[in-house]
Amino acid sequence: MKVTAAAPAKINLQLSVGALRADGYHDLVTVYQALDLRDEVTIFERAEGMGVQCGISGDFSSGVPGDESNLAVKAVKLVAELVGVSCDLNIQITKRIPVAAGLAGGSADAAAALAAAAELYGYGGDLQPLAEQLGSDVTFSLLGGTALGTSRGEVVVPVLARGNYCWVIISSSNGLSTPRVYQKLDQLRDEGAVREPLQLAPKNELLQALVSGSATEIAAHLSNDLQPAALALVPKLQRILDVAVEDGALASLVAGSGPTCIALAKDHDHALDIAARISGQNLADRVLVATSPAAGTEITAIEKN
Ligand code: ATP
Repeated sequence: MKVTAAAPAKINLQLSVGALRADGYHDLVTVYQALDLRDEVTIFERAEGMGVQCGISGDFSSGVPGDESNLAVKAVKLVAELVGVSCDLNIQITKRIPVAAGLAGGSADAAAALAAAAELYGYGGDLQPLAEQLGSDVTFSLLGGTALGTSRGEVVVPVLARGNYCWVIISSSNGLSTPRVYQKLDQLRDEGAVREPLQLAPKNELLQALVSGSATEIAAHLSNDLQPAALALVPKLQRILDVAVEDGALASLVAGSGPTCIALAKDHDHALDIAARISGQNLADRVLVATSPAAGTEITAIEKN
């Protein structure tokens, strides 16, 4: 049997970061939205005892490990272990989500691999606990849509949201490691350069804007506590954020831990216009247009032998 699953990238409309916890993570309150920018993971069985082999193709394959550190490899092994079978699989990942970009591409691959392996092995149990073991954003990638994330971001509940939003995704090839950005934030807080939020809670104005479905309202309430840290590490991102707004975006901000920047447009044509202008200025390596919210992880093809 050959199974293909697709899983979305995420953006954070709100990313509030609390204090550093004893386990090394930070408590978060975040409002996630899934983008219609999806990686695909196809798996099929190999002869018994051959183990797992992972191949990567697509627009953003460079820098993605094909070994055991790949989150999709970890995901299929978790499912096989739970089912009690030897894990002998070929995995093919098609990467359309920029890597180490703050868009949770690795988490998307983990979510897609979990869903595909569950289908292939006939596992009908809850995938959420496995997703939580694999990474903070994997549970959201399974769910998709719009959701409130708490704890490390792995505890997710759907949030009411109307409308569709068009984004310009401005990606840089020099990825930022997420732990490095959190460390920088801790350092900036220790130095008193930025403050921890007084209260770690969802922002009512943003939740109301999501109910209204107005892009202008959403634009006024986007926030990312990691942005000062990402900007301190990659100062040229500030220019990208400024240019996006000068070019007509309703708002711009760093995506998650960066270095991707995202800019909110009025509609799809407006997003294409902004993307064309930004592309012409040689500030970014890749400029994409994507829409949110989008579906979570889905099985897209099953081929039986
Ligand atoms: P997040 O915002 O969830 O921290 P990110 O979007 O910033 O993640 P990813 O694209 O998930 O970053 O990649 C982070 C690192 O994870 C990569 O540098 C890579 O070494 C590793 N990695 C492991 N598996 C994958 C995968 N399937 N796809 C991409 N990166 C992977």
